[in-house]
Amino acid sequence: MEPTRTSYLHITGPQKIIFYVMIAASLAYMVWQIYERSRQWNKGRPIDWKPLGWQGIVTFIFGQRKVQSSRTKSGAPMHMMIFYGFMALLLATTLLGVAEYGHVLGIPNFHKGGYYLGYEFTFDVMGLILLIGLVWAAVRRAKMLKAQAESGRDVLSHDPSDWSAICLLIALTVTGFVLEGARMANSPESWDNSAPVGYALSQVLGSMPDAGYIGIWWFHAVLVAVFFAMLPRMKLKHIVLATISAAKAPDRPMGHLRQITMEEVEETEKIGASEATDLSRWHLMSLDACMTCGRCTEVCPAYGAGKSLNPKTVVSSVFGALTTGEPLADAVGEENLWACTTCNACVEACPAMIRHVDIIVDVRRSLVAEGKLSGSGADVLRQTASTGHAWGQPHARQDWMKGLDVPLARNTEDFEYLFWVGCAGATDPLAVRTTKAIAKLLNKAGVSYACLGSEEACTGDPARRIGDEFAFQEQAHTNSSVFKKYGVKKIVTACPHCLNTFRNEYGDFDADVEVLHHTQLLAELVGRKQLVSASAEGVTYHDPCYLARVNNESQAPRLLLGQRSDYDRDRGQVMYELETGVPVEAELLEPEHTAHKTLCCGAGGGRMWMEEPIDQRPSTVRTKELLATGAKTVAAACPFCKIMLDTGIKQETDEEIRLVDIAELLQEANAE
Ligand code: SF4
Ligand code: SF4
Repeated sequence: MEPTRTSYLHITGPQKIIFYVMIAASLAYMVWQIYERSRQWNKGRPIDWKPLGWQGIVTFIFGQRKVQSSRTKSGAPMHMMIFYGFMALLLATTLLGVAEYGHVLGIPNFHKGGYYLGYEFTFDVMGLILLIGLVWAAVRRAKMLKAQAESGRDVLSHDPSDWSAICLLIALTVTGFVLEGARMANSPESWDNSAPVGYALSQVLGSMPDAGYIGIWWFHAVLVAVFFAMLPRMKLKHIVLATISAAKAPDRPMGHLRQITMEEVEETEKIGASEATDLSRWHLMSLDACMTCGRCTEVCPAYGAGKSLNPKTVVSSVFGALTTGEPLADAVGEENLWACTTCNACVEACPAMIRHVDIIVDVRRSLVAEGKLSGSGADVLRQTASTGHAWGQPHARQDWMKGLDVPLARNTEDFEYLFWVGCAGATDPLAVRTTKAIAKLLNKAGVSYACLGSEEACTGDPARRIGDEFAFQEQAHTNSSVFKKYGVKKIVTACPHCLNTFRNEYGDFDADVEVLHHTQLLAELVGRKQLVSASAEGVTYHDPCYLARVNNESQAPRLLLGQRSDYDRDRGQVMYELETGVPVEAELLEPEHTAHKTLCCGAGGGRMWMEEPIDQRPSTVRTKELLATGAKTVAAACPFCKIMLDTGIKQETDEEIRLVDIAELLQEANAE
């Protein structure tokens, strides 16, 4: 006899009918609940972008990309065991159904022979993996909640329904195994040991009366029905919603904010989002997919510095406002909205693909339109609009060039790179040091470049992220026309914020330019032996958010410090290839948070210009981390970071700590 098994052992025809009715009812209830939720999401704006589609599902759901890049050590393998174990059992049930009822469609029963033995072994083991993952999750959760209660932090959700989801899944898996063992014990076959867990249980359970087996069967069946019926109400709903969220997610980089057009303003009579229904349907749906895991909170620099901003709470408040109709600014709290540095750490960490920054900036836009921004934040908007310089110093844009041989675009016939200096790079004393070092290096390497000097204007990045969309658009149009005038095709800049805006956002304003960060161009020049790299002796490096996380560049700066780095994006670690045989002169002193997992200095999103209570500064937290490496030199690669870290270092230590841009170190190494 070929190996196979009897389906519905001891289950009578009428019992089968009751079972099918029960499962159909629970599935119908599940679909109805999802439909009701979708009516809520559909109150939002229709999506007007190209979604990621299958690419999103394959990468983020089946590839578990966000889970794998989890910061916590045990979180990723635990979740992957649950995900793949659960998916395997879903597949096993589907295959069983096709084998049992496929004859209706002319598919013969294939649940026998070698296939059957392989099926039994594979799904038995996958069930065990699921169970281990679930128990791991329960233990981990209990430990984390205990630690959280002691620290007073609000990271992981402590909603009792979260426990019910884990307990229900554990009960389902355990009863599934017990049922399998009972079936084998009551109807033993020589091939039963192909399912090792079920077989071991059958040896423990021994044969039991039919009624006992039927009782276990019904208990398991009721749990399955409860599972489907409760799915949309529990954290487990993310199984469905995160999949839809990944498929419909915008295919645009995290550093690209949505453009508001005048047509939209005329139509809606609004700028930005004052109510939840002003957000897109996808944004609302993604909020519903939140599993309150707290990863966003864990990485938020504002929360970490002691502010009340908590991105997890932002998500629940905005979704709650969809039902209550409360204005978003009231639901989230204006103080929290302004506290965000738009560092995108939360966006990068969120497994449900939620784009917190899109939402926060959209609400800021409505506040700015209503004239609710005052103080230093409002000053920067005024200065940018009236002078084209974020600090209001347009007359000083060329001062840094004195004594240097810097070509100006208006006097240069043909140049390869436009060296974009930026507002800080032109006028802030710390940033000017970087600008001068870059100009000297470009001159030494014989790079064809030019600067705009007094023709340069702010990119509009601070205005856009503070929430003044039309001030940004005005700057974008001005700069784009200057690029056209000089036929600019390539830009190099020391400011990751300018880089991000040019690279990801200026395409909407008719600018077609290739943009490099200065560390990228300099790394190319080192690679071509036109420059030599600097030493990392006693140096630590701070990855800027808008370079490392938002624009995925953390290798070039390290290469300039003599490190042969191979950046592992998923782990957020920089892995040195020391085995290449070429000795690294000195290893860089890496802080706890590196590369795309970097910790924000607190300057982005317009925070650079806003008041910051001394005991709630993200720059202080980051500075402590950098100094904990024991480094005597802190290297930066962003003018804003440099300004923030300067304050942090002065506040934190009396020791002689050198703060430099990598370009300055390189310039010293290449000085004649
Ligand atoms: S927003 Fe994302 S990261 Fe934050 S709690 Fe929800 S699912 Fe987790
Ligand atoms: S973007 Fe950064 S500062 Fe803003 S909520 Fe997210 S993690 Fe916090």
